[in-house]
Amino acid sequence: MERTIWQRLPVREVPPQERRKDFREVNLGYTPEEAILEASRCIFCRRPFCVEACPFHQDVPGYLERIKAGDFVGAMKVILRDNPLPAVCGRVCPHPCEDVCPRAKKGDPIAIAWLKRAASDYAPDVQFPEPAPNTGFRVAIVGAGPAGLTAAWQLRLMGHSVTVYDAMDQPGGMLYFGIPIFRLPREATWADLERLNALGIEWQLGMKLGEHITLEELQQQYDAVLLAIGALKPRWMKIPGEDLDGVWHVLDFVREVNLGNAPDLKGKKVAVIGGGFSAIDAVRMAIRLGAEAFILYRRDRAQMPAAQEEVKHAEEEGVTIHFLVNPTKFIGENGKLVAIEVQRQQLGEPDESGRPRPVPIPGSEFIMEADVVIEAISQEVDLTKLPEPIKGKRVIAVDAENLQTPIPGVFAAGDAITGPLDVPNAIASGRKAAQAINAWLMERKKVAA
Ligand SMILES: Cc1cc2nc3c(=O)[nH]c(=O)nc-3n(C[C@H](O)[C@H](O)[C@H](O)COP(=O)(O)OP(=O)(O)OC[C@H]3O[C@@H](n4cnc5c(N)ncnc54)[C@H](O)[C@@H]3O)c2cc1C
Repeated sequence: MERTIWQRLPVREVPPQERRKDFREVNLGYTPEEAILEASRCIFCRRPFCVEACPFHQDVPGYLERIKAGDFVGAMKVILRDNPLPAVCGRVCPHPCEDVCPRAKKGDPIAIAWLKRAASDYAPDVQFPEPAPNTGFRVAIVGAGPAGLTAAWQLRLMGHSVTVYDAMDQPGGMLYFGIPIFRLPREATWADLERLNALGIEWQLGMKLGEHITLEELQQQYDAVLLAIGALKPRWMKIPGEDLDGVWHVLDFVREVNLGNAPDLKGKKVAVIGGGFSAIDAVRMAIRLGAEAFILYRRDRAQMPAAQEEVKHAEEEGVTIHFLVNPTKFIGENGKLVAIEVQRQQLGEPDESGRPRPVPIPGSEFIMEADVVIEAISQEVDLTKLPEPIKGKRVIAVDAENLQTPIPGVFAAGDAITGPLDVPNAIASGRKAAQAINAWLMERKKVAA
């Protein structure tokens, strides 16, 4: 059947039976010709809802129009005005822009994210403009995830000296040790990082705030400090048996797999608890490591926070998702996990997230065998080494207007101020923090003059 203007051009993918055996990238992207055809479906609305829906207001029509004309370099230049991570976002952005695309009313939305990836695939060498002349101000950024990297990009372009500190030996944050390489290959992350590096950012890697350097020391050495430390503290379910061998938190599991220290899961039964990005990533990693892996999710399919496309990919790869179930106990033998006690749930009234609350059904408990369990229910900000005044409720406390903490000259951004969200929100937050830091520095310059 011929494709109509309402149908998006499908993207090439590695078939499920092949890809479940290795970690190569699943999505193979558009050819240049396919990208031009897909971009040509855009109707270039007078009021672009896609731009409004993007947390950092990426100029989507601007780059689609360039791709439609076959000008990938021009598209990349448009993208790089708003976004320092095009290869990353083209692969992992949850693309709220596509949800509001008018084409979706009768058919498929334009494949906006895949088109961004096409621009980054076919014009990877486009660079940022030269930074403004040196202002003499020095800014320290703690955290080299998307929020910190975005702030570093903006502040360098404004002419400030920027030093990025990170506890890990590699920049990227969750892009490097969270998201699996079959969704975000290293080459894509490195392509974006190299472009940023060319701006003259200084890196202090393997430097943990609170261990190798203190906030007070940074305040003495720099004119402003940005804390973009993410939400990297595991949040546990707090049910019996969590100390058993075989029980993991998802952050530890994905980090170890991404760093090449994957556990041997061949022939093991692996249960992943949760329905978000990280749960789906962990279960797909477990499949690739040879496990029989399944998900336990306490709500129903419609409420899963993970992108539908990722859920579809997981199911194609052989993952079973058990809905409306919640673990109540981990059962062990000789200190090792052997099974999980699970209780059935039903949907009740909406909770604070707006989704129907899972309500336990008394007496519905049953036992499922499992050798490994990976808890992927949540994570939080590690506030332990931070000074009291900036400790908020589970996040770093900031003024919502300018992202400044109660300590003057110390700002915060990204998951560290919101709790776990996503890459486009971290980019938006990094941009906002950079604008506020610049305004603060300029104010100091005026006072000093
Ligand atoms: C498995 C997984 C999959 C995900 N998939 C997606 C996805 O597909 N799409 C999407 O949009 N989002 C996804 N996310 C969420 C997304 O990665 C995060 O929301 C985003 O990375 C947050 O950016 P950030 O810069 O605030 O923090 P992070 O990326 O977490 O970076 C924080 C950085 O701070 C450093 N740091 C922390 N404490 C210290 C310290 N004391 N001293 C020095 N450095 C420190 C860390 O080492 C880290 O590099 C995923 C998350 C996970 C865990």
